[in-house]
Amino acid sequence: MGGQPMFILSEDTERTRGDDAQSSNISAGKAVSESVRTTLGPRGMDKMLVSDDGDVVITNDGATILDEMDIEHPAAQMLVEVAETQEEEVGDGTTTASILAGELLSQAESLLEEDVHPTTIVEGYHEAAQIAQSTIDDAVIATDPDDDQLLQVAASSMTGKGTGDLAAEDLARTVVDAVSQVSTEDGVDRSAITVHTQVGATSSATELVEGVIIDEERLSEEMPRSVEDAQIAIVEDDLEIKEANVDAEYQVSNVDQLNAAIEAETGQLQEYAEALAATNADVVFVDGDIDDRLTADLVGHGLLVFEDVDSDDIESIRAATGASRVGSVDAIEDEDLGSAENVSVEKYGEEELIFVEGGAASKAVTVFARGSTDHVVDELERSLTDALDVVTAAVDAGGVVAGAGAIEIEIADRIRDEAAGIEGRKQLAVEAYADAVDVLPRTLAENTGMDPIDALVDLRAEHDSGATAGLISEGQTGIIADPIDHGVLDPAAVKHEAIESATEASTMIVRIDDVIASN
Ligand code: ADP
Ligand code: MG
Repeated sequence: MGGQPMFILSEDTERTRGDDAQSSNISAGKAVSESVRTTLGPRGMDKMLVSDDGDVVITNDGATILDEMDIEHPAAQMLVEVAETQEEEVGDGTTTASILAGELLSQAESLLEEDVHPTTIVEGYHEAAQIAQSTIDDAVIATDPDDDQLLQVAASSMTGKGTGDLAAEDLARTVVDAVSQVSTEDGVDRSAITVHTQVGATSSATELVEGVIIDEERLSEEMPRSVEDAQIAIVEDDLEIKEANVDAEYQVSNVDQLNAAIEAETGQLQEYAEALAATNADVVFVDGDIDDRLTADLVGHGLLVFEDVDSDDIESIRAATGASRVGSVDAIEDEDLGSAENVSVEKYGEEELIFVEGGAASKAVTVFARGSTDHVVDELERSLTDALDVVTAAVDAGGVVAGAGAIEIEIADRIRDEAAGIEGRKQLAVEAYADAVDVLPRTLAENTGMDPIDALVDLRAEHDSGATAGLISEGQTGIIADPIDHGVLDPAAVKHEAIESATEASTMIVRIDDVIASN
């Protein structure tokens, strides 16, 4: 047997080991993070992403950029997951997390070159991350933010994002109102807030609707456009002739029989209309189809009826109005009905939108986002969604910290202090983590048009003198000032999650020394 090589992998398998595997993974991760760098902060730029079939997305949102890019490299894919996790968990801070992960990899590369063992790097990074987390806890300025602070959190998350012709501050009011409308002692019911977009007006027409907006058409134009104090029914059935009568067609042999069959059908249809009219419902949402011959009767009874309502809309009407889904019109009882102060049909261009507002319906709210083009409303929707998430996080998950790089300066400083007490080469890894965190204020400075090195030196000097110092963008440049005074606040949860997901991904990549790819 001796000397005979043994093949355990198929010939198509590509294998990269040791330093090569490490450096290829690290470069791929860095490249991903590099691609979102210029979008960070209020003066970050946007990216235009064009898909295979020519669809264009213009965005400043890290998660969206990475999602739209067709990233194949497996290590690069892990950085995309960092942004995805960040988006899912807290809804903001995706660029921050990706940039930090990339810089942690970059620092790890230098440590590997200095022969620091990967497991030492991993241990040091985890230790530094813990210091970072407790620094964030200690830096929380308000665990239970007031209205003004929430407005600032919302505005900070939208500054520099696509908000059409509207300033972030103006939109912030709508966002905070939406969140407070669905807040109870048990917390914020984020699922009760929807963003509904509609092109055709400038963004300043964006408003908060206390209720839900449904994209459906009335069964007939003769039905009412508006119903006050509406009682609402949801029917999950088809209002059509049931199968059995269809067979009648084949048994008809003379005109009398034909008339009888038609009468039987009409009778059955009338029963639907009568059954509906007998309930207290004024507005009826039907998930199935409604026979055309029934329309006139329903109009006659003064009902406002919708057919073919899709399941998402049914669900939001249910949640907002308290109506129960009922399997047939005969079974509707008073307690199945939901209510709303007003159900109205509004025309937007060619389309009709249904507003179910007020009363019980204000258990749910809708931010009705307007913009002049699809690209504007799409980016506005992303900005609003982020802002709704950060305000929710600030209310529900641990308060707010000073933004604009201040928290990062504090974190790096604390890690360096504590690194001094750590033995051996692990100390190098802990210090490297602090250097990596510096990338965030440095990038903010770059994107603001400041000299990054000077800015960092000045920031540290301010911080050492005991001040809270951040990079506040003003006009064409930035100034070093207290972010709290300038209302630049971020939720603590966003910072916690960024540290956690960036550390996880970078340490996972550093530990890999063998890539085995089957083709
Ligand atoms: P992310 O995807 O990480 O949220 P953003 O582009 O939203 O990226 O930038 C977030 C950073 O911008 C945070 O550090 C935040 O504190 C900072 N920031 C927000 N508003 C301002 C401002 N007016 N001046 C300086 N920094 C700001
Ligand atoms: Mg943001």
